[in-house]
Parts: sequence; C-alpha cells; structure tokens
Amino acid sequence: MTRTVYVNGEYLPETEAKVSIFDRGFLMADAVYEVTSVLDGKLIDFEGHAVRLKRSLDELQMAEPCSKDELLEIHRKLVELNGITEGLVYLQVTRGSDGDRDFVFPSAGTKPTLVLFTQNKPGLADNPAAKKGAKIISIEDIRWGRRDIKTVQLLYPSMGKMMAKAAGCDDAWMIEDGYVTEGTSNNAYIVKNGNIVTRPLSNDILHGITRKAVLRMAAEAQMEVEERLFTIDEAKEADEAFTTSASAFVMPVVEIDGVALGDGTPGPIAKRLREIYLDESRKAAI
Ligand code: PLP
Repeated sequence: MTRTVYVNGEYLPETEAKVSIFDRGFLMADAVYEVTSVLDGKLIDFEGHAVRLKRSLDELQMAEPCSKDELLEIHRKLVELNGITEGLVYLQVTRGSDGDRDFVFPSAGTKPTLVLFTQNKPGLADNPAAKKGAKIISIEDIRWGRRDIKTVQLLYPSMGKMMAKAAGCDDAWMIEDGYVTEGTSNNAYIVKNGNIVTRPLSNDILHGITRKAVLRMAAEAQMEVEERLFTIDEAKEADEAFTTSASAFVMPVVEIDGVALGDGTPGPIAKRLREIYLDESRKAAI
C-alpha cells in the first residue's frame, strides 16, 4: 500500500514526496527527529516528544517549522489517512537548503524542511521479542559529544546494531570509560537486589521520553531508582536489565556479552514496568 506522507505543508503519496538534493539534512545530517508510538490509533506521549523536539531545535539554532498544535494535527491526520492502529510516526526537521552546499548555515529566513511519515506495526505492544528478552553485546561509544540532541547522525548506532546482529544478538550497549552510556536506540538499566540503576541525564545520553515516564512510574510503584553510572561488569552481575524507547517501550535484556542475567529470562521488574508503562501510556494517549 502506498503511504500518504507529509512534506512541507503537503500530504502526498510517498512516491511523489520530494526534498532537494541540497537539503542540509541530506548533505550534512543537519537535522533532528522524533519517533512517536501509536497504540489504539492514538499518540503516546506526544507532549514529551514535542517538548524535546523544541529543545533539539533550540540547541542547534534551527527554526521551528510550525507550532505544536499544527504538529499534533499533522500527526493525527497521518495516523488517520494511513489507518494506523499500532505503529509509529516519524518526524524530521532539517535546516533546509538555500540551493547550494556550504559549511556555513544558510541565510536566516531559510525555511526548515519538515517531513513526517507513518510506519504500520501491528503487534507493536504485544511484541514476542519482549517475552523472550534481548541479547546484547557491548561496544565502545565513539559518537559525538552532544548525544542529548536527537540528530539524524545515526551511522554509528546503525553499525552497532549490525555488529550485534553479526554476533547473533539483538542490540548493543555503548561503553565510555568503562561505563555504559546507552543502547544504540534506547536507554539502559540494570536491576540489583530490587534497585533499578540507570545513567543520570547529561550530554552523554539522549534524554529518553520513555525513560522519564518509566522512572516516574517506577517511583509511583514504590520501586527503588538510583541514577548513577554503572560499568559493563556490574551489568553482567545484575539480577536483570532492560532498555526503554518510544518504539519498544520497556524491553527486558537477558544476556550481555554472552553472560546470562539471572535465569536468562525476562526479570520481574522489567516485566512489571512494561505492563505499567503500556497500561498508563494507553490511558494518557491522545
Ligand atoms: N537513546 C538513544 C540513543 C535513542 O536513539 C533513543 C531513541 O531513539 C533513546 C535513547 C530512547 O528515547 P525515547 O524513549 O525518547 O524513544
């Protein structure tokens, strides 16, 4: 089926949507993005994604393409036009183009490029991978120093995912100075003696929208949460581990670098948090 996508004010069949070859998103990865989940035909935590998008744009002195209300309308219209019940809405804003390639930013007033499309993912919430749990490898984190900005510079995370696949695993956690930063496209957590440990927010990691919601829900459920650095060795000794992201929610991790965690099946805290997150997010979806 041909999707209807959104490009700079127009809803078009995906085959007819076009962006300039001089666009800085294409030439320089000068672009930011958001991915919002859709469950029951509704958007999960749209507000969180809109707030983070604004922050990413501000950090890069990039113009806002439209208002938050307009963004919400575009999201909803694409979900409706493409009949999405479970899936994702991908949004990208680039610095646009003034018709040539230059390291200097285009002149003020150059229109940003705004592109959105949907991805239909039936069974997103009831994902069998979450019942099995993920196997991960660790790799060096060699990304740039502003990982808090959600840019489209995803080559290394993509290579990390391929390294994991080549090792017969599902994903990779990245390590800097011996400490886990985050997963290729998710935030990382370990659990020891009932205590949930995750890296504190800084420029070293993406400030996950799901992370924020899950930490709030964990506190509400009287779970112990500690925001501190942890090493990959500590992770291998943990009782359980998990990741969070807007597209995979709470994903249990059952193996790190070939070492099984606990009994090698998804742990009780990860499973409980997944249930709570899905339940609460569905209720608050718009
Ligand atoms: N960390 C990285 C590097 C990511 O790419 C992502 C999501 O794409 C996350 C964390 C999770 O963020 P969110 O929960 O907002 O999806």
